[in-house]
Amino acid sequence: MVLVVSAPSGGGKHAVLSQVRKRDASLGYVVSATTRRPRPGERGGVDYRFLTKEAFQTQIEAGAFAEWAEVHGNYYGTPLADLQESMAAGRDTVLEIDVQGMRQIKQTRLEPVTAFIMPPSLEILRERLERRGADEPSEMSLRLANAREEMAAWPEFDYVIVNDMLAEAVADLEAIIRAERRRTVRMDMEKELENHENSLPRGF
Ligand code: 5GP
Repeated sequence: MVLVVSAPSGGGKHAVLSQVRKRDASLGYVVSATTRRPRPGERGGVDYRFLTKEAFQTQIEAGAFAEWAEVHGNYYGTPLADLQESMAAGRDTVLEIDVQGMRQIKQTRLEPVTAFIMPPSLEILRERLERRGADEPSEMSLRLANAREEMAAWPEFDYVIVNDMLAEAVADLEAIIRAERRRTVRMDMEKELENHENSLPRGF
């Protein structure tokens, strides 16, 4: 399955996802491309693929993105080849993208599971963004305005998680993944039966 996880910036989706990924190494993850500047501590190829606007544009024209969007004046996109590679390896794959990206992925045949991580309130979101202090003041008000708009899109998602206590939000996302994996439509029944037979005691 493809799992789209969105949250307004500062909503804490990165913290939730890094915990979930640490606890389930089988999950695939696609590193997005962006034209924004790296924040202190961010590493190219790990946090994002940092591209120039020109390089990003060229890749758009080459059809290299599964989806892309302009967020806070920068471009962000999901490299199609990386998504295909992860899916071909049989991995359930997480896309950490914005609401515009979620809408685009929903238009494809990927039939994504979509989850939205909500901050407990706009006030707490503001505090989190201030504490991070990684953004210019002008950029921060843009992020807050954008957060308001993104939060209004919650009914478009399959699931909503309120990120009040990190451990609970992690458990919620894990429960969603666990339940989605048990959906009959995702099962290779022949394989399931084979495994089942192998696990039966001799003589049965
Ligand atoms: P940030 O600059 O704070 O890392 O990310 C800003 C926003 O861009 C977040 O909402 C994040 O989810 C979104 N974003 C990150 N990567 C992608 C992507 O590949 N595609 C889309 N559509 N949004 C992305």
